[in-house]
Amino acid sequence: ALSAHLESARRGSSDEVTKSVVHDMNNLLAVIDGSLRLLERQSDADARNAIFTRLRGAVDRGAILTRRLLDHGSLARRGYAGTTPTQLSVAVEALRPSLSPDTLMEIEIESGLWPVKADPDELYFALLNLCRNADAATRKGGLIVISAANVSARSDGYGGMVAITVRDNGSGMTEEVMGRVFEPYFTTKEVGVGTGLGLAQVRAFVERQGGWIQLQSELGVGTAIQLIFPRVPDEESAAPVLEPNSDVSCS
Ligand code: ADP
Ligand code: MG
Repeated sequence: ALSAHLESARRGSSDEVTKSVVHDMNNLLAVIDGSLRLLERQSDADARNAIFTRLRGAVDRGAILTRRLLDHGSLARRGYAGTTPTQLSVAVEALRPSLSPDTLMEIEIESGLWPVKADPDELYFALLNLCRNADAATRKGGLIVISAANVSARSDGYGGMVAITVRDNGSGMTEEVMGRVFEPYFTTKEVGVGTGLGLAQVRAFVERQGGWIQLQSELGVGTAIQLIFPRVPDEESAAPVLEPNSDVSCS
């Protein structure tokens, strides 16, 4: 039987799939490029080793991306174990080299953060998209804050969620742009720079997990984009996860 992803990939235009993969690959190349630049300037052995580890991580993610594309037409996968807070902080740290050297990045991950009901690699690519956008919107002295916090039960029925926010002090957006950012192919960037696919991809990913995305932006002040995911229930995170679509095996 075909997986849901393969079916939807077959239904969608292959052109669209290609563009979204190219978009992810481009972002990944920015991480690799940034890491190599750091490596060229770094002579301290420990620091160089840390950069090598990041480079290895970026290459592995590229391999996962192509593997999943071959297996079922997209990065999405059906069975996932969820992302643990440790995996999240490693992923967020790995984003640093993709930012311009004069952008400051702060990380605030709540202690006791619940595991997030999302695949760690997909989450990485989503955060990479958000950080690259934030970086592009800030000038020298730019600040990007990535935070993650539990959202406990609330009176409106939502709760047991985890909110991951990427906030910047960049250009912000006009009302008109705010209304269109999630449209596929909507971009305010020059041809060849922007694809307009980033936020559309991120939104589709969050919604596939049963979560949602929130946008706050003020022109001249900055932007915050919040991804709200269900947490992994305790009974699930305690049990080993079987992956029906295991896609890291070599065959
Ligand atoms: P792209 O980055 O290729 O343009 P995206 O879907 O990632 O496509 O973003 C669409 C548009 O949303 C961008 O062109 C930009 O105008 C706006 N945008 C996204 N993130 C930010 C941000 N952090 N600050 C200001 N504008 C943003
Ligand atoms: Mg983008």
